[in-house]
Amino acid sequence: MTGETEADLTGVEPARNRRRPKQSIMEIDGRKLKPATLMMGHGYDPSLSEGSLKPPIFLTSTFAFESAAAGKRHFEGVTGIRPGGAEGLIYSRFNGPNQEIAEDRLSVWEEAEDALLFSSGMAAIATTLLALVQPGDVIVHSAPLYAATESLIGRTLGKFGVQWLDFPAGASGEEIGAVIERAKQLGRVALIYLESPANPTNVLVDLDAVVALRNQLFDGADHVPPIAIDNTFLGPLWHHPISHGADLVIYSLTKYAGGHSDLVAGGVLGSNALINTIRLMRNTIGTILDPHSAWMLLRSLETLELRMSRAGENAAKVCAWLKDQPQVERVVYLGFPDSDRQADIYRRHCTGAGSTFSLYLKGGEAEAFAFLDALKIARLAVSLGGTETLASHPAAMTHLSVPAERKKALAISDNMVRISIGCEDAEDLIADFAQALRAVG
Ligand SMILES: *Cc1c(COP(=O)(O)O)cnc(C)c1O
Repeated sequence: MTGETEADLTGVEPARNRRRPKQSIMEIDGRKLKPATLMMGHGYDPSLSEGSLKPPIFLTSTFAFESAAAGKRHFEGVTGIRPGGAEGLIYSRFNGPNQEIAEDRLSVWEEAEDALLFSSGMAAIATTLLALVQPGDVIVHSAPLYAATESLIGRTLGKFGVQWLDFPAGASGEEIGAVIERAKQLGRVALIYLESPANPTNVLVDLDAVVALRNQLFDGADHVPPIAIDNTFLGPLWHHPISHGADLVIYSLTKYAGGHSDLVAGGVLGSNALINTIRLMRNTIGTILDPHSAWMLLRSLETLELRMSRAGENAAKVCAWLKDQPQVERVVYLGFPDSDRQADIYRRHCTGAGSTFSLYLKGGEAEAFAFLDALKIARLAVSLGGTETLASHPAAMTHLSVPAERKKALAISDNMVRISIGCEDAEDLIADFAQALRAVG
């Protein structure tokens, strides 16, 4: 029996091979293909689906096994009895062709070993935390985090005896190290959770410093806490945290990756080992993305680089214009770092400033509301990363329930407007902002 693989023994060809090409073409004549190229075909072979150029949407709740032995083998994979995860398609709470193709393509951007799709960004975050955190553990995180993430860690996991300690997003290495040291005294540090840039302050976290400190402070420890980072604002184009040593990259794919404000989805990227642990939890609680949204996401990924590049260029033009207007107090945009430290973090980590920023008008809520109500192209809505420009008022909307003193600390003031620039013509957007600023006075 030596020399035979397990698959040979059972004679089972995994069902997923029916839609997977034997080998995806990743390079030509030694030239490594770019993600923008791979988004069109990677992970899908038309000949396995009646020649259909695009993958069909697999609307099925379950998949027929080729044999009883195949079914057994798949369940061994899905339950973790045999390491490596499911090799075939089983049941749509576990996996499906559309989700797997999109997971393969999402992985390409960060050269991640594997990826998982979820029914929302929060489903991705919740499933990851449930998979990695135990009662009595401590989570160290940067602050602020997306509000629902903070409430999940503080309130929901708090009910199960999980503690947390945070450090401000822009903290120095010494400050971060001191917080990690304190966390180690409290209990097992389950994971270090980051969000960069922080929303809505746009402050970047020094991921390089966090990775170095984690490696130093947990050298030789039984449990080395993985570093997870929410990359929704800059990924997957302008920031690649895995190449800086992050273990898990988390996305609300609802934003730039979906990119058209027409779907809700989440993703997690990382090593096979961590992804398999999170996959077992996703299989158990059913937080996988549905096939239709996964198909829409595949379509979105084809234009991701075009959309994000255009939005980034537009934002640079709009911000350069906005910052000199008489009605404007300041523009908080990653392209204008406000300290040497932030400029240094930006240079080391980011390849672009994104297209989401904060605009502080002279005045207060009345001026901010007058500006928002006067906009003609930009829509008044929360969310970001879509093809269309959106504007909102964090103090009265997304961050309404944040206590006054914390709002003050985070500079979420009544004169702050949050803007996500889309793919329109930049000069048209400037014309819209110009007429809206005139409405303020
Ligand atoms: C929107 C968002 C989330 C939550 O994602 P959903 O897809 O709305 O569940 C998490 N983190 C960040 C940074 C976000 O902007």
